Amino acid sequence: VDLDFTPDDLAFQAEARAFVTEHFPPGRAYEQSRDRKRWAAALHARGWAAYRWPVEHGGPPWTATQRFIWERETTSRGVPPVLGGMGMGMLAPVLMGYGTPEQRARHLPGILDDSVEWCQGYSEPGSGSDLASLRTRAVREGDQYVIDGEKVWTSWAHIAKWMFGLVRTSDEARKQQGITFLLIDMTTPGIEVSPIVTIDGLHTLNRVTFTGVRVPVENRVGEEGQGWTVAKGLLTHERTGLAFVSESLRLLGLLREVSARLDGDFAQRLAQTEVELRALEITELRTLAEAEAGASTGAQSSILKLKGTEIIQRVTELFTEAAGVYAAPWTPIPEGGNAHPIGPDWAFTEVQRYFSGRAASIAGGSDEVQRNIIAKSVLGL
Ligand SMILES: Cc1cc2nc3c(=O)[nH]c(=O)nc-3n(C[C@H](O)[C@H](O)[C@H](O)COP(=O)(O)OP(=O)(O)OC[C@H]3O[C@@H](n4cnc5c(N)ncnc54)[C@H](O)[C@@H]3O)c2cc1C
Repeated sequence: VDLDFTPDDLAFQAEARAFVTEHFPPGRAYEQSRDRKRWAAALHARGWAAYRWPVEHGGPPWTATQRFIWERETTSRGVPPVLGGMGMGMLAPVLMGYGTPEQRARHLPGILDDSVEWCQGYSEPGSGSDLASLRTRAVREGDQYVIDGEKVWTSWAHIAKWMFGLVRTSDEARKQQGITFLLIDMTTPGIEVSPIVTIDGLHTLNRVTFTGVRVPVENRVGEEGQGWTVAKGLLTHERTGLAFVSESLRLLGLLREVSARLDGDFAQRLAQTEVELRALEITELRTLAEAEAGASTGAQSSILKLKGTEIIQRVTELFTEAAGVYAAPWTPIPEGGNAHPIGPDWAFTEVQRYFSGRAASIAGGSDEVQRNIIAKSVLGL
């Protein structure tokens, strides 16, 4: 496997770096509330908004290595490589693979220009890891499905205009075969969204209940009963994006700069984490090289997710330790606010990041479930 960048890749790296610097000169950090719209528009104008999409749907003609370079150049500066949330990364590939031409024409533009937010309605009380046991029911009545049930842990449901969700349309045969994939307009009567505030003090999660919610049959992706196949394809896309390598690299770099305790046991743990992160980085590069050569990455995405989660959690632990007493006065992210931080700037939101990081080993499929996948697919157990 050749892991060196080609001259073309190096030229692209310089171009990408210049583009990021043009919008975020040194010292100008990305701030979601202030910069999101501006950055989305800049990416869209440059044709780089959907950098993982195929060219025919509006993606740039980049190789997998160039996509990797782009992620590194943005994330290392704390700038998101892509906007468009769950619609961009998860639903769009599904619509390209399984959607009708009408569904693509209707939904892809709103994802591409970041004007329509989507949420993912999979998990239910009692159906997370064992997703195939889900019970939210959809009964066909003429050219509509009528939905009753409950989804939980639904990220961003309170701001989403649409949900892509799984519903049960049959109890016959294997439980996986009775599941159908639907696109649900969140303004439909009968949908109620209630907040779940997590230990980091943030509201991103929700409970969503459905009471007699009517969804046109034309909003079904794939055939009735084939939702499991559609959903499985989507989960691979979700997990590949969960290795956090660039983010961990950025945080470790920052930690080296700010930490006053770069000695003894702390320094050793920092170095150990960095070594493992570099190994993960090589694994990610190798996966990319294999994908580029046309190989299926399969269980690799579970390995990247599992190890990446472990490392980012360790990085946030080191950060919290380095912050010392300043980690104690927990302060919410001050986007747009003018609150005066207690302690150094870099420690200001550290505890929030630490708590948020805990969820990484659950969201997108828990660690134990990833280990089961690796045991079966890689080790053949
Ligand atoms: C921050 C966050 C955001 C999320 N966003 C969304 C979202 O937008 N949409 C959505 O649909 N869902 C979302 N989820 C839900 C997430 O997918 C589930 O929480 C996850 O799949 C685990 O399911 P569960 O919570 O029901 O736990 P359970 O499945 O009940 O698991 C409980 C424990 O048992 C273990 N366990 C379960 N089965 C096995 C097994 N076979 N072998 C060994 N151990 C096992 C698990 O690892 C875990 O430790 C989100 C979760 C989090 C934390």
